[in-house]
Amino acid sequence: MILVLVVPEKNIKNVVAIKRKGNMLLIKNISKINMLICLILLTALTSCKKNKDNESKNKIDTKGNSMQKIQPKTIFSFFGAPGSGKGTLAEQAVEKFGFLSLSTGDLLRENISKGTQIGKKVKDFLDSGQLVPDELVTDMVQNWLIEKKETGKSIILDGFPRTKEQTQNLIDIINENLPEYKLRVIALDIPEEEILARLTGRRICSNKECKAVFNISEPGIKDGGKCPKCGGTLIIRQDDKPEVIKDRFDVYKKNETEILDFYKSAGKNIETLDISKLNKEEVFDKFNNIL
Ligand SMILES: [Zn+2]
Repeated sequence: MILVLVVPEKNIKNVVAIKRKGNMLLIKNISKINMLICLILLTALTSCKKNKDNESKNKIDTKGNSMQKIQPKTIFSFFGAPGSGKGTLAEQAVEKFGFLSLSTGDLLRENISKGTQIGKKVKDFLDSGQLVPDELVTDMVQNWLIEKKETGKSIILDGFPRTKEQTQNLIDIINENLPEYKLRVIALDIPEEEILARLTGRRICSNKECKAVFNISEPGIKDGGKCPKCGGTLIIRQDDKPEVIKDRFDVYKKNETEILDFYKSAGKNIETLDISKLNKEEVFDKFNNIL
């Protein structure tokens, strides 16, 4: 950085050039008056820089405060019937807080579309609307968690655990591999009729990089329409089709009480959020308030 000071005409030959190299200042042709101006200017610049530093520090602090809400490292175990919006909530938490989220559904679909060994095995189960065996899911989740814990970020589990056995497995995985993480169980509470109405209207973006979730009740969302986020085509996910929905709902309900009871017996507190009639922003606010 080179600073040039403009001084009164009578001192024109004393124009000062200051060259700054790191913490060194090279000052040429300095006179007493210019020395004074230099000092004033440098003081002003230093305080200006300090303010800037503080400003950016404050920005980090502001962010840090909201990030601090998620500390200590937390694994959120989300519950909510299919269509309760827990996937959307996870998406928002990823976007706004930098959380990581695991959707076992996505993880399974990824394995299927890649045609992995595990994917081939789970395909038959999913196609018939059945649950995938615990060992397969647990192995996938365990690998994923161990890989992601290095980031130190809080994690949302969406769609896992789905059985009592998986719940025990999750508790074991955390105790053995991620002891620095705290487990919080969040249950999204919403009436069945509201759920079914939401599910039949759900459309997702077919772009694998996006996978945003919408509802045809939202403005601009229609069958075969375009994703407002990326322009991808909106589709009905295979397991959102009416004939599959009822099965999924029944299977879910059958297991939810059992799992939550298991959590309770393991000494975990269930934090219930009543999200009936709330839009996704309101649901997010509600979640934010308990962090
Ligand atoms: Zn999209």
